[in-house]
Amino acid sequence: MGHWFLTGVSAPMAGDDIAEVYIKRRLPLDTGSPASEDSDALRTNYKIAWSGAVTAAQPRIRLMRSFDERSHTYLGYLLRIVGTVDGVVAEFRVGIGSGTQAKQQIRIGDHVEGLGHQVADPRLEAADIYKVSKLKLIRRGAEPPTTAPWHGVPPPLPVYRERGHRRLAAASYDSKCSSCVWGCAMPVEMIIDKWNPERRRYRTETFCYGPLSCSQYQPGPTRKVPGRSGMSYEEEDWIDEDATAHRGPDE
Ligand code: SF4
Repeated sequence: MGHWFLTGVSAPMAGDDIAEVYIKRRLPLDTGSPASEDSDALRTNYKIAWSGAVTAAQPRIRLMRSFDERSHTYLGYLLRIVGTVDGVVAEFRVGIGSGTQAKQQIRIGDHVEGLGHQVADPRLEAADIYKVSKLKLIRRGAEPPTTAPWHGVPPPLPVYRERGHRRLAAASYDSKCSSCVWGCAMPVEMIIDKWNPERRRYRTETFCYGPLSCSQYQPGPTRKVPGRSGMSYEEEDWIDEDATAHRGPDE
């Protein structure tokens, strides 16, 4: 018991609206436990028991950027849970696959439990725990209200892909949208120089896949993507308009 703790900050960059350090991390604490050995392999192979109440269910999507190009990897779903992890009371995030979610239909208010592994590379994952097994829905929560932020079962991943997203201010995500099924905090991997693709940087960006008419929506400043030789690409408003132009205001 007690081998893990949460640390990290939710920190939008001043004037940039992009959180460079956003994801809460769990780190080994105690000595003499499997989790505290100075071995990444041991840490990532150690199966962690977790359980608790779901306080958010959102898509788990990674964004790759290379200057003005971008591509998404649809990993599954991210459950934010208040409960216990490895015997410690905590808030933590669990990444599950789309097949598991299709079967369990997890939403806010549900009580769940399972086993999982500590995420090996937190730069690429919004979750603290992934590779989940023995996921069990213990108790279904109450029926959610039908107003924003939307708290139902998040839709299948192809629905997100088809809808497209708009940038969402990090502060709005934190204050209003972190529980909405249409909100997403994506880990972003950026190739700075495509002739030298090993040069990469990482950050988190927040997006909204929800109705264009949502009263909670705030875009925040445009996002800049660093490139080689000090160059920078600005992702202007028309990119978001283009990505969501096929939807009506209330869709
Ligand atoms: S702005 Fe988007 S993420 Fe936020 S509540 Fe509205 S639909 Fe949900």
